[in-house]
Amino acid sequence: MLDDIERGRGFIAAAHLKETIPGVYRDMKFGEGHTDYVSCVGLLYSMGVRIFTGEFWHKDGDDWRRSLSDASSFLRKKIDTAMERYLADKEAERKFISVQPLMADGTRIDIGLNIGSSSPAALEGAKYTDMVGLFRTEFLYMEKPALPDEQEQFEAYKKILREYAPRPVTIRTLDIGGDKTLECMNMPREDNPFLGNRALRLCFDKPNIFKTQIRALLRASVHGSLWIMLPMVGSIDDIRRAKSMIDDVRVELDREDIACSSETRIGIMVEIPSIALIADIAAQEVDFASIGTNDLCQYLTATDRLNPYVSGYYQSYHPAMFRIIGHVVEEFDKAGKPICVCGEMGGDKLAVPVLVGLGLRKLSMGISSVAGIKRVLSTLTMEHAARLADAVKNMPTAADVESYLKKISAEGEFQCKRRAQ
Ligand code: PEP
Ligand code: MG
Repeated sequence: MLDDIERGRGFIAAAHLKETIPGVYRDMKFGEGHTDYVSCVGLLYSMGVRIFTGEFWHKDGDDWRRSLSDASSFLRKKIDTAMERYLADKEAERKFISVQPLMADGTRIDIGLNIGSSSPAALEGAKYTDMVGLFRTEFLYMEKPALPDEQEQFEAYKKILREYAPRPVTIRTLDIGGDKTLECMNMPREDNPFLGNRALRLCFDKPNIFKTQIRALLRASVHGSLWIMLPMVGSIDDIRRAKSMIDDVRVELDREDIACSSETRIGIMVEIPSIALIADIAAQEVDFASIGTNDLCQYLTATDRLNPYVSGYYQSYHPAMFRIIGHVVEEFDKAGKPICVCGEMGGDKLAVPVLVGLGLRKLSMGISSVAGIKRVLSTLTMEHAARLADAVKNMPTAADVESYLKKISAEGEFQCKRRAQ
């Protein structure tokens, strides 16, 4: 059914998929043979079609129906139209990839890269970005028969740090659990895995795994500017416990006469509302933070981010999202600590003007979003962004926010200042 969709288009559309499927994208397989399948899913998603266990489904009234059987002609028509629009837009965006990330009034927004491996392809974006805003380290652990040892991890971290030096590289400690399991680790089944023993909690539970990773990170720290980021932090206790374990590893390395940089920063992902709401206190305990909007949305709206039955409740544009993000940014700004967004919203062309209006000066995203975001920024003034942020924070529903931002974007209002110059 999907064989006749060429590979080239598949690759382009895979990038599109990243922009259209927060969360789900990451969990798809991106092997050689998967790009066409993935591309279709990406395009179809934006048309209201969803996948359940690898099949195409669509909404029919209140029911979901399998649409795999007649997908062939349906796909061809939809993909052709969507692809034409998509390619025209990408072509216009392309030249922005290498420009400085400046707004129309000259304000600079640092652009970070989200990466999931240390491969040359993943590091391609180093030319166009100011930092690694999120390095997901899970790839080192997944689909492996055994846990990666310290040396293997050290080599991977060193490679990225060197490539980016002297720019910062934010490396997130192991964020496993939830939907992600490890073949090489016995992980008991949980009823609510996203609310369970995941990420930092699992690292506390398995201190040797955490310590091995921290040893590798601290050893690699002499090769660049390392920012260690802790995922799934819910309390100040979490922060203190993790920092104390990191200190222990430092002492251990020191005793072994192994050098590590004293400049390494320790920060957190803000993705659980309980830490977001005490951002003023958290900011005193850490060197920086990055807002993980994917999980923040999941926990704020009480919606499993991977459960298609409730995807309508997963509302990134919920006014509460913008209010809570605004609060975190304000508190970290007050404390003089860097704050970034590295969830999918950081690369979302509709959301970014609002994020900037809320005070964010650092955004991190996948490489496929970089040119588009630089383009949006180039058309926007801070004054306009602040007005947008005020407006959306006071809207009643996510649908209101989305249609407002779409309308403004379609009318080219983001471009107003640029035309006037
Ligand atoms: C997030 O939650 O926004 C995030 C960046 O982390 P992940 O998607 O890997 O959970
Ligand atoms: Mg997360």
